[in-house]
Amino acid sequence: MSKIIASAAIRGAYKIVGRAETALADALAKYGPQQPIEFPNTGYYLPVIYGISGMKAQKLGDLPPILHRAKSLLPPHPTDRVWLPYLGHALDAGMATLFADEIIEIIKYLEDPVPYTISENCPDDGNFWLGAADDVIMRKRGIEFVDGTAPGFAACVGACPTNEIAVKIARELQEKNLYVFMSADTHGRSMAEQLKEEGVQMGWETRLVPFGKDITATVFSLGFATRAAMSFGGVKPGDYSRILKYNKNRIFAFVLALGEVDDEKYAQAAGAINYGFPVIADTDIPQILPTGICTYEHVVSRIPHDKIVSKAVEVRGLKVAVHKVPVPVAYGPAFEGERVRKEDTYVEMGGTKTPAFEFVTMREMHEIEDGQITVVGPEIDDVEPESRLPLGIVCEVAGRQFQSDFESILERQIHRYLNEAQGVFHMGQRDINWVRISKEAKQKGFKLHHLGDIIHAKLHADYAAILDKVKVTIYTKEEDVLAWREIARKAYHFRDERIGSLTDEGVDTYYSCTLCQSFAPNHVCVITPERSGLCGAYNWLDGKAAHQIDPTGPNQPISKGEVLDAAKGQWSGVNEFIFKTSRQTIERFNAYSIMEDPMTSCGCFECISGVLPMANAIMTVNREFTGMTPSGMKFSTLAGTVGGGLQTPGFTGHSKHYIGSAKFISAEGGLLRVAWMPKALKEELRPMLERRGKELGVENLYDLIADEEIATTEEEVIEFMTRVNHPALSLPPLF
Ligand code: SF4
Ligand code: ZN
Repeated sequence: MSKIIASAAIRGAYKIVGRAETALADALAKYGPQQPIEFPNTGYYLPVIYGISGMKAQKLGDLPPILHRAKSLLPPHPTDRVWLPYLGHALDAGMATLFADEIIEIIKYLEDPVPYTISENCPDDGNFWLGAADDVIMRKRGIEFVDGTAPGFAACVGACPTNEIAVKIARELQEKNLYVFMSADTHGRSMAEQLKEEGVQMGWETRLVPFGKDITATVFSLGFATRAAMSFGGVKPGDYSRILKYNKNRIFAFVLALGEVDDEKYAQAAGAINYGFPVIADTDIPQILPTGICTYEHVVSRIPHDKIVSKAVEVRGLKVAVHKVPVPVAYGPAFEGERVRKEDTYVEMGGTKTPAFEFVTMREMHEIEDGQITVVGPEIDDVEPESRLPLGIVCEVAGRQFQSDFESILERQIHRYLNEAQGVFHMGQRDINWVRISKEAKQKGFKLHHLGDIIHAKLHADYAAILDKVKVTIYTKEEDVLAWREIARKAYHFRDERIGSLTDEGVDTYYSCTLCQSFAPNHVCVITPERSGLCGAYNWLDGKAAHQIDPTGPNQPISKGEVLDAAKGQWSGVNEFIFKTSRQTIERFNAYSIMEDPMTSCGCFECISGVLPMANAIMTVNREFTGMTPSGMKFSTLAGTVGGGLQTPGFTGHSKHYIGSAKFISAEGGLLRVAWMPKALKEELRPMLERRGKELGVENLYDLIADEEIATTEEEVIEFMTRVNHPALSLPPLF
């Protein structure tokens, strides 16, 4: 351990802890100890403090003991002329720093206005600093860390010498699919400000996340990492060694120290090293090479800007799988969320302005040529800037293992595939698709032809097991688009009829999904035709296709076996399967019941349904709803109770789609039992609620379900139910 770094980190820690002490004293004087404190919409309190120490901070009065803990971690001050040879001292100082950071940051949320914009994405104008990520963002993004869509993150601290370098580094990190967390400044400049000045779109969607300009905002990166260990790794709060180990082994993160490193930055770096995150610096600071169990460098310095990203990736041992897609623009998931504004659009297609569609259809092997990409009609060069064109994307595929049921699965990927190209915007699907190509992309040489190249390359990369040939034809003449659209529409209709007609009784095989066992080790989703996986991403056909694509993967066929209880949805084959795959922890499942042996919930559920015992009814809340529910808990708190791969009678996590299923909690009366839903969810589901209401003989079902504008407590729900004579009132008691 370099003595210089240790001293600097310890000096920095003293400064930050001192700042926290002053800020806390001021806040206590101003607001008093009973003042509630929270990072918006989270069940993890102050996540580093909660994860590492197990201490929950809910009001200002909870902070003094935490500050005390931070102080007790501080090693002797280096000016006390004590010999401090151990990395351990710097690490303790680093942890004390992170605690103090969180105290300082949480107090900022009491300011009026809050110095952060509470949103997932940066607004076009005004304050672009986003502060702490809430639990909705955490789940959504965290999943990408679990399934590998995002290998990790780069915490960028400080600023680059020029805006151009800042943009280059950001783009390079984005292309490696990494999240870029930005904080702190160097001589008054910050990397996020540099990106902003260059018109780069920032926010969680583009993976460029400006946390805050203060050095203490660096803690939001570590807070994110700490929550990942708790929510996905199932690590208990306070089990600090497992939290740090989880991060060292699973979260591929590193710190890029940009510009001069002062004491406070050393202190943050020491905090990050606790998590196994190495620090790569562009300046000449002392290096710390591998020691003890750590097989890689802790601090690597003097790396030139054009090498800094590849050096970081190398040091941290990241395996970045990038399939080269043959296009003249940058390509990768980080560009998926990028918008193309109207004034930046070179050509626009579909989006109700011109006829458009996209369609995947199966052919015999001998019928098509692989890699044949054709544009029939005007290319992008044939039209003026800001014009419109009709668009038909016809993708013909063939493969020995291919089945027509897979067409729609492939077709659904087109959205993501095209969006991941920088300067290409895609929305919708089927015959309501909408595509914009930016002037910048056009200038870089992007052609309509490339839409086909992307689809061809990506389908081969992702579906090699079922596909041998992919041919794409892009139509841009109206008469061709209209003619093909009729053919496509017939196919869409046929598919809808087919998936709509699949019932649980009609098949003898279900599919499992155990993808989430990487963080909820006993969780199994059993996917039936009438109950999709609880994350909403997998239905029965997806499970079937996924099994064919990867026969030893997380989706396995389950033969139903004997029907043990038709009403509750229990089968002998399913029970045997879950007993085995839940490591002997779950003996039986009732697919259609919330009260008795419900399915386990991992944490990715789109919605949670829970019993309102006095009302004899059920409420359903979706993840996006951040308000209070009549159960007395917010979604984030409910999720903490229900998730983790447990069976929790009275509660179940599920997809949005399942609400419209005839098997939705049918053992307890199904949709007719639902008395409360957030308004936005109700609106989103309106067509389904109206259709299902009719089928169930309650025409005005939509109007009978209360929402947050009608009731926020169980008593108010009961009042409303009585007023409208809710159908649950005449259902048998739940208990
Ligand atoms: Fe996880 Fe279930 Fe979704 Fe599979 S289907 S990813 S196990 S939530
Ligand atoms: Zn899950």
